[in-house]
Amino acid sequence: MSEIERKIPLTYKNIDFVPFITHASLDKTPREWVNITFPKDNEYPDLAAAKFEAVRCWVCGQCEMSSMANWAMNCPTATYPAHYRQAAYRGQGKHMTVLGLLQGFIKPTPELVDVAYFCNLCGNCTLQCSMGIGSDPVVSVMALRRTFVKMGIAPPAAHRRFANYIKEYHNPYAEPPENRFAWLKKSVEPQKKGAEILYFAGCTGPYRTPDVCEATVSLLSAANADFTILGGEEWCCGSPLYMTGLWEEAKETYEHNIAKIEELGVTRLITSCAGCYRQFHEGYRKFGGSKPSFEVLHSSQLFSEYLSSGRLKPKSKATEKVVTYHDPCHLGRHVGVFDEPREILSNIPELKFVEFERTAHHAWCCGAGAGVMSAYPELANFAATERLKEAKMVGASYVSSACPFCVLNLRRNEEAGKFGLEIGDILQLLDRSMR
Ligand code: SF4
Ligand code: SF4
Repeated sequence: MSEIERKIPLTYKNIDFVPFITHASLDKTPREWVNITFPKDNEYPDLAAAKFEAVRCWVCGQCEMSSMANWAMNCPTATYPAHYRQAAYRGQGKHMTVLGLLQGFIKPTPELVDVAYFCNLCGNCTLQCSMGIGSDPVVSVMALRRTFVKMGIAPPAAHRRFANYIKEYHNPYAEPPENRFAWLKKSVEPQKKGAEILYFAGCTGPYRTPDVCEATVSLLSAANADFTILGGEEWCCGSPLYMTGLWEEAKETYEHNIAKIEELGVTRLITSCAGCYRQFHEGYRKFGGSKPSFEVLHSSQLFSEYLSSGRLKPKSKATEKVVTYHDPCHLGRHVGVFDEPREILSNIPELKFVEFERTAHHAWCCGAGAGVMSAYPELANFAATERLKEAKMVGASYVSSACPFCVLNLRRNEEAGKFGLEIGDILQLLDRSMR
């Protein structure tokens, strides 16, 4: 790299010039770059750990699109009108922020904290880049969030607030903990020792979309499943804390739940929420928590198993509407559960189904996750509205999903935009078809 290029200051305002600090313009392989010690490696150890991802970025911009959906834009933050295609808000900008800090070209500022948190962690960039370079922007976003939290300049106030609520009320909505199962219409024995299945209801389902939880319990009963709930001992799974860089707090609530579940001796756990599922499924690997001794399933996996074994037999039409399925990022792209929700829908008699154009691996995010709904509602609303418009475009009149958090954000924006769509969980459709 020439001296002139080296001297180009990397600031938030001219972050579009950051290609000069990538390996792409240099005579070194990515591996050689990883071995280079940057001046600030010791100051930012979490960022140094993300260096292998960041140095491989070519700044090609593929990660903001979808290669399988006619190269449609597929990164909510890069598509958001106020930041449209601004480098800092694309996958490459996350990598360049990491490299700029490690090289000492930039310093942490409130604007950089905004860059790190104005992101759904939806994983579209991870997927798109993995088909070419394999440089994962999500690793850089997580490293930035963790670094800023350790420095005491993050997370944003909205995340601090929900972290305090989780500590006090065990849910991020500051709802009374004793009301977590207030929606239960059937009698379920809480903390039943030796039950086969533990239904982990989560926070969003019970407090914001209880109809999803009701359908889940109704289906468990219809299948004569031997299940129980944690009742007053269920705490937030910790996913919102982990995603926003509050790993110690995430571990505390995660470990509480693991200990309480293991005391019961259940062999399987099901969740309604994609975020809870991912937290139990892989949380232990991320922040050093205990590995669950029980099998972790998303509810769609259990009910698709019950359908294929004949334990559940849908008999009636669930809806006259044309149904589409929105893949939750934390269930689909991040973990790989794409088939089971579709198997459930395909078992419902006479269901008219249409796929989104951006679907399955290439699904557009609903916009709610990774702390965005609380700290950047404008982005959450924009992404959900885009999804609803896409549903109309493909001819759907019912948007189904497999996560109460997606359902919540889509419903709120349906109410605001009046698209004439019904929003619900796949289990609500299945439950209707049982009658
Ligand atoms: S992260 Fe990958 S897809 Fe995105 S700009 Fe960098 S190299 Fe291209
Ligand atoms: S995780 Fe999603 S929102 Fe964040 S940069 Fe990647 S594609 Fe964009």
